[in-house]
Amino acid sequence: MPLTLHDTLTREARVVRALDGGTLKFYCCGPTVYGPAHIGNFRTFVVQDVFRRVVERDGTATLHVRNITDVDDKTIRDSQKAGLSLADFTRHWTEKFHADCAALNLLPPHVEPGAVAHIPHQIRMIEKLIAKGHAYATSGGVYFKVSSFPQYGRLSHLEDREIKLGASTAATDSDEYDKDSLSDFALWKARKPEDGANFWRSPWGEGRPGWHLECSAMSLEYLGEDFDVHSGGVDLVFPHHENEIAQSCCATHGRFAHHWFHVAHLMVDGGKMSKSQGNLYTLEDLANRGYTPEEVRYVLISGHYRAPLNFTFHSLDAARHALQKMARFQKSALERLAIHSVEPSGPGPFASAWETLNHDLNTPGCLGEVFTTLNRLKPAHLSDSEIVEALGGLRFILQALGLKLPELKEDTATDVPTEVATLAARRWEAKKNKDWAAADILRKEIESAGWIVKDGKDAYELTRK
Ligand code: AMP
Ligand code: ZN
Repeated sequence: MPLTLHDTLTREARVVRALDGGTLKFYCCGPTVYGPAHIGNFRTFVVQDVFRRVVERDGTATLHVRNITDVDDKTIRDSQKAGLSLADFTRHWTEKFHADCAALNLLPPHVEPGAVAHIPHQIRMIEKLIAKGHAYATSGGVYFKVSSFPQYGRLSHLEDREIKLGASTAATDSDEYDKDSLSDFALWKARKPEDGANFWRSPWGEGRPGWHLECSAMSLEYLGEDFDVHSGGVDLVFPHHENEIAQSCCATHGRFAHHWFHVAHLMVDGGKMSKSQGNLYTLEDLANRGYTPEEVRYVLISGHYRAPLNFTFHSLDAARHALQKMARFQKSALERLAIHSVEPSGPGPFASAWETLNHDLNTPGCLGEVFTTLNRLKPAHLSDSEIVEALGGLRFILQALGLKLPELKEDTATDVPTEVATLAARRWEAKKNKDWAAADILRKEIESAGWIVKDGKDAYELTRK
């Protein structure tokens, strides 16, 4: 079944296929390793993982490259604050990132290049850009001349915005400059005193590469001049991806990425989850409140990737309930056959869930179809072969979504009915907002449903009365 996916460049859903008819080449902008990745970052990485799993389920091989940004303004600043060398500091956070990826059941990319290890590649690219008249050196470093690339702005549809190409000729060397300024951007940044020991030699003096360049240099190295799909969070469309396109297209003869795939933000209370907003949750924060990585993964795919998704604790409770429902079906079906597991087959009775998933990676629609099918299938009324087909189909879908089902324990808080879980989540929110009257009413409702809620410092526990 062909997967269709919205393309940011053409604004159309397009069939995803490998250009060379063989391996699908896929580049993802990776994390900046200066602290733990938050679950907003992981929304993007989880959706990219589902994309890869869906492509591979259909028998297509992938070549997945995801970089590690281990040198930029933030990594340098925070390694100095931590009193560590840049290499030791970024190694620590890269290891933490890998541990979180494994917990979330993310397939490791086939290549995971780091920016520092590819400085010669970046220097070579700058040399080409200068030789072709697309870049110029100043005392502050080397800059890309935006006006030399008339297609600049096509991806982010700058023509639809107030910003005009050529309206600004100011140069900027910040890795995170104001999103609405259209400036010549730094390819090489001359060494500054605050960089400390973090500088490298180049034909333009000591310094370091600008952030945008690393993805152009590393995608060229590992995927070639043009490749199939390039992805990141929606905040990267402008300027990062616009700059990548400009650098890559001007340095080579390639068309660069053929399909652009962007994931909308995970939000908290209407704002983007981000380190700078201080509204982030990490996997560790959520584990401390009793939530598993599987539940977090479920929440992250519970909304369509092109729409912002609001994170709430209620959504985590709902995820727990949904995973348990699937696990209960699996358990009772396996018990009926007196077997322990069934290999994933085709989608079987979950064909509509698979079809929905292949339509612009509609994960919430797919999950909805899974439950519609589960509600219809009653193991007690199915033949043995129908049960095997259903179990195999469920495993097929779960593998495509990268979801693992929980072990079912009897009579614990994990069997809390949705209504009670919802009341408890609402009560916890009320308590956080110091709305004691509402919290009291909700406690009584929980009790009349046969449950007792006990509060800890950062979490609550539900037990049967
Ligand atoms: P960074 O480590 O900041 O370079 O970001 C790594 C990836 O996470 C990038 O693809 C970002 O676009 C993405 N990202 C950052 N914040 C969010 C968010 N709140 N929701 C979804 N993706 C995000
Ligand atoms: Zn990038």
